[in-house]
Formats: sequence, structure tokens, C-alpha cells
Amino acid sequence: MRCIVTGGAGFLGSHLTESLLATGHAVAVIDDMFRGSQKNLLGCKGMEDYHLIMGDASNRANYEKAADKLRGVDCVYHLAAINGTRWFHERPDFVIQVNLDSLRVALDFAITRGARFVFTSSPEAFGEQPEMPLDNNSDSLFSSAAQHGRHSYGASKYLGEILVQHAVKEHSLDARIVRPFNGYGPRLPGDAYGQVTGIFLEQCRKGEPMTVHGDGQQTRSFTWVEDIVNGTRIAGELDEGLDGSILAGAAFNLGNPEEISIYDLAKLCLEVTNSDSEIRHHEIGHPGDSRRRVPDITTSEQALGWSASVPLQQGLESCWRWQIAEHGE
Ligand code: UDP
Repeated sequence: MRCIVTGGAGFLGSHLTESLLATGHAVAVIDDMFRGSQKNLLGCKGMEDYHLIMGDASNRANYEKAADKLRGVDCVYHLAAINGTRWFHERPDFVIQVNLDSLRVALDFAITRGARFVFTSSPEAFGEQPEMPLDNNSDSLFSSAAQHGRHSYGASKYLGEILVQHAVKEHSLDARIVRPFNGYGPRLPGDAYGQVTGIFLEQCRKGEPMTVHGDGQQTRSFTWVEDIVNGTRIAGELDEGLDGSILAGAAFNLGNPEEISIYDLAKLCLEVTNSDSEIRHHEIGHPGDSRRRVPDITTSEQALGWSASVPLQQGLESCWRWQIAEHGE
């Protein structure tokens, strides 16, 4: 396939780009490097079937350039978005603008070109839904907008799924939705705008206190990046589900059902890194935080033949080896 990957220089995007190229597809990345980096794509540089368009995924002209490079387009993998929980609180206006504007332009492009579409949504699209596991029939639950901007991200993904479903019904777009659950692995940002596994491993490396929000009893289902990327790639590759299901409009949770509390994650990071950082509880974490997050992956197993293959401890060990190679101990 000739694939456009928006946000292809980011954490998930760069791994997806590598995976698509390794599977024999051609890829044109569109990324303005706001959170992505060219360094993430160094392994692809110089490859015949790889192209990089440095620019905004909300600008149609960049898609035309990408399609020119590929001499056509078969599938658009849309990952471009502002992620990183701190951004949701600090710049909800920006998060909503980038996430929805880029999606509308990407969808419109795919519709006019007759390309297949894969939208990277998120379990955050369900907001603070307390009932687990999350499946395609779970309701979305968002706290009052006056309290905080946290759900700028989740609500943008929820509205994004509505836009995608509308394009499937009204424009016959062959679009599929994936929801990665707390992906982690090499290149995950570990700065203040990053995600918890990146932050904890970075704190262990520097011997700094580990910042556990609240009582640390909130849970997540951390999923190894290559597992997520395989599921995302397959969601765009298959013409129909392995169970014979129609994939247009189908949504897939890509998550490791191994649930762990954030406090236990901090302890596991200490064990894996052999660090003597202390665990410190911070009263103020991220308002609007989900207490639990567990995926139902039945649909992904049946239609994509997908399930998570890497246990958390093994993934954290690989991540740690990467951090050491990258920064030294
Ligand atoms: N978290 C934490 N300490 C940190 C960063 C995050 O305890 O320094 C917690 C956060 O409150 C949440 C979980 O880790 O409960 C996952 O946070 P992240 O921002 O990585 O992603 P989320 O799943 O909330 O989108």
C-alpha cells in the first residue's frame, strides 16, 4: 500500500512508519515536529519508499505533496494530535483545534481520493466511565467543563469518532478506528508533558523522587508500542475482518488486559531499573483522571487476530535498556 502517516514523527507514528516500511509498504509522513522529532525517523532516512513532509496535518496541501511523492495513496493513517496530559489542562483550546482540524482535513482528503482511513482514537474518548472493561458499547462520561480542560483531548477523540462514522455512512469512506491503551516503549516522552512510564523511568535514571499522583490506586493497562503498532497497521491492511466482518466503521481497542495501579507501576520501575529513587505521593495530580482503564479486546481478537503479546515487566526492561543506550546511566 501507499500510506500517508500523519504525526509519523511522534512516538507511535515513528514506530508505525518503521513497521509499515518493514512490511513492504511505501510511507509518506506528514509532521510539523511540534511533539515529533526527525530523530525518531533516523532509521528510515534514505529508504527508497520513505518520504517526509515537514508541515501541518491541518493543511490540505501537505497531503497533496505526500500523495505526489507516493504517486497515489491507498491508506491514510491519521495519528496527528496533541497528546500529553499536561497540554490538555494548559492548552485545551489548542488541543481541540489541532485534533479536530487535522482530522477534518485528513478525512476530506481520503474521501476525495477514495483512500482507506485509520483513525487513532483513544480510551480517553470514554472519559471517566467507571465501568470496566471498556468496549464499543461503553458510554462516554465527562465531568463539567467548568472544572478543568482535561477532556479537551478525550472529547476531541469522541467527536473524532463521530466524524469518522459520519464519513463512513455518508461518503462510503472505508474507515477503521483504533484505540491504543497507554502505549509505552522507546521514544515515549519522559518530560513534564510526557506519559507516566516515560516520566517514571526518567526519574529512576536521574535518581529523582517518583511523582505518584494521589493515592496511586488508579489503574491503567500499559501496552507495548510494537503491539499497538501491529494492530494499527493490520487495521489498515485487511480488506475484511478475519471473522468475515465488515471493517468500515469498526473500532478496535488495542490494549493489554494486564491492569496495574500507578503505585505498583512505580514499584515495578524501581525493580527494573534497580534505582533507589523514593516514591512520593502528590496530592494534586491530573483532575479528571480515570480511576481504572481496562480494555475489552474481543473484537480485536476476532476481526484482527490481535492481542497484546508483551508482558509489562518485559516491556519495561526493553524500555530501560533503550533509555540507558540513549542517555547513559
Ligand atoms: N501519573 C502519575 N505521576 C506522573 C504522571 C502521571 O502518577 O508523574 C498518573 C496519572 O495521574 C494517571 C496515570 O499516571 O493516573 C497515567 O497518566 P498519563 O498522563 O501517562 O496518561 P493517562 O492515562 O492519564 O492519559
